Amino acid sequence: MKAQGRCLCEAVAFSARSRAYTAHECHCTHCRNWSGHVWAYVCVRWDKLTFTRDDGLVWYAHTLKARRGFCGHCGSTLFWRRNGSAKVDVSAGAFDMPTGLRLGAPSFPENHGDYYGL
Ligand SMILES: [Zn+2]
Ligand SMILES: [Zn+2]
Repeated sequence: MKAQGRCLCEAVAFSARSRAYTAHECHCTHCRNWSGHVWAYVCVRWDKLTFTRDDGLVWYAHTLKARRGFCGHCGSTLFWRRNGSAKVDVSAGAFDMPTGLRLGAPSFPENHGDYYGL
């Protein structure tokens, strides 16, 4: 299933191909700082992500092991990727389609800061 996504100003746009688009929420310290509180994201394969427009994507290396991608124009939070990983976490809100995410009880997926000891 193919899905399109973009940042607020559309300087960065992408299409992704994945069997499912399950949204997760992360409450780790880094995501809280980065997103405002809860970062909602969808994990897809990096090689299934195609940039249809890349006119301002900035990668911020917030640790030695992972980077966060955001739009340098409008500031939209877009990606989290462990260096060299086959996967990338994409902001759920960047997708054009609704992801069906319902924020509920806090979840702490094995991801981002704690799991990797970043
Ligand atoms: Zn933008
Ligand atoms: Zn996190």
